[in-house]
Amino acid sequence: MQARTLEIYAHLGVVERALELGKRATGANLWAQGRRAARVPLGDIGRGLSPYPFLLILGQDDNERLLGEALRGHGIDVQWSTELVGLAQEADHAKATLKQPDGSTREVTAAWVGGCDGAHSAVRELNRIAFQGAPYEHIFFVADSQATGPMVPDELNVYLWRESFLLFFPMRGIDHWRVVGIVPVELRGQSDLAFEDVVPSIVREAGSLSFQKCTWFSTYRIHHRRAARFRDRRCFLLGDAAHIHSPVGAQGMNTGLQDAYNLAWKLALVTSRQASETLLDSYEDERVPVAQRLLQTTDRAFTLVVSDNPLAGLFRTRILAKVLASAMRFDPVRKLAFRTIAQIGIRYPHSPLSENLDGLPDNAPHAGDRFPWAQLQMSAQGAAEDLFQKLDDTKLTLLLFGQPVPQASMPGFGDSLQILTIPSTPANDQGLARLHVPRPSFYLLRPDGHVGLAGARFEPAAAARYASERLQFATRSRSEC
Ligand SMILES: Cc1cc2nc3c(=O)[nH]c(=O)nc-3n(C[C@H](O)[C@H](O)[C@H](O)COP(=O)(O)OP(=O)(O)OC[C@H]3O[C@@H](n4cnc5c(N)ncnc54)[C@H](O)[C@@H]3O)c2cc1C
Repeated sequence: MQARTLEIYAHLGVVERALELGKRATGANLWAQGRRAARVPLGDIGRGLSPYPFLLILGQDDNERLLGEALRGHGIDVQWSTELVGLAQEADHAKATLKQPDGSTREVTAAWVGGCDGAHSAVRELNRIAFQGAPYEHIFFVADSQATGPMVPDELNVYLWRESFLLFFPMRGIDHWRVVGIVPVELRGQSDLAFEDVVPSIVREAGSLSFQKCTWFSTYRIHHRRAARFRDRRCFLLGDAAHIHSPVGAQGMNTGLQDAYNLAWKLALVTSRQASETLLDSYEDERVPVAQRLLQTTDRAFTLVVSDNPLAGLFRTRILAKVLASAMRFDPVRKLAFRTIAQIGIRYPHSPLSENLDGLPDNAPHAGDRFPWAQLQMSAQGAAEDLFQKLDDTKLTLLLFGQPVPQASMPGFGDSLQILTIPSTPANDQGLARLHVPRPSFYLLRPDGHVGLAGARFEPAAAARYASERLQFATRSRSEC
């Protein structure tokens, strides 16, 4: 679980439960040919960058349960064993045919369809959207095991050897490890492969390990593919339905959750008739480049990690661990690694929703950026507060630095805007200087926390123009009508 997802979970009200169920990875231990070659401390790797400056290890089953419970809190239940088998799109609605658990079918009419149906997405296939890419040749396994050995408890343990690698993720419970590795070449053709079959190769390469129990074992092939489009009229593709790649860097589920967070506020504005449907075009504009970049970087990293080339093998076992451990001693490298892997560095600078007005220095946050996290005093005498807790993901937020709230009304936003004026205090000035936020400046944040409009002196007229031209707000919002 990456920090950006935990920031989103905080808004959904499920972060405390996720932290309770998960384990913070305090370090990654790199083992080469049976010996611990290096340890990379991860405990507070993102200190000052996020309220969650760590990597959280939490099983996907727990994640799904958490989100399912949150949904139930809103009076909605997941309808399991119900399959989308047909889809027809009309000008103003879509008609879905669902096969129910008893085998009967029923039709559902909906304004919009979110295709969060995984790599074999029916929404994608029924819309004939190509899923371009290819499979990797290796076959992987994942096992839930009870194991003892030299692994450092509660930390990530990565075993590297010339032909392969093995990952041990600490899970809740005693000696409970989720193990991910590559099926040895000699076993690749075997159809009824069991965990016992791969254990001898693990023990041979990783050293004195013993497995007491395996409660789940599965093999799979990994593909790198991207849907040619993330939208077809009233249907959207999100998560693995839109993009799949290697698990290097633990990005897949996190990226899918961010797809959903990107689309959700836009759909909310459109279905409540505050914005026109054109706003939804920005989903593809923003998320396709994110998926493209992700596929490129995970492909490069993965090729290096699994390459059969002897030189790559030598690099993995002799050099990689030491280079990584040395590089991560430097604060700028640690911060860059955290920004990239924790997904807080994802930006939409070229989105039609991103606009910079004059007056911002180059190193200041700009339109498209996730506005940086800070602890700020909201009143001159008040205690420092977590800025992200002040944001409301059902509204836009106008942050004003070094200037008062404008006297003129804010036409065009109706009740979907909150304004926060950040006072000048010694603590705020110091914190904002660290983030390169100048004074005077203003930042109009979208409900997902990314900057929409930014500049020096705030002008209500510029914001009103932004709302109508970029966010496609109706000229008079619903509450003003
Ligand atoms: C070994 C491994 C380790 C990984 N580790 C990480 C990690 O550490 N961090 C990370 O971020 N990601 C990780 N990933 C990736 C992550 O598992 C996926 O990216 C994530 O599961 C995608 O979620 P999704 O909801 O898009 O799709 P899925 O999880 O595939 O869910 C799709 C759902 O749609 C349902 N469905 C399918 N077809 C239909 C239909 N026709 N009608 C109705 N329902 C349908 C399915 O039953 C399923 O419930 C890992 C993947 C692997 C293989």
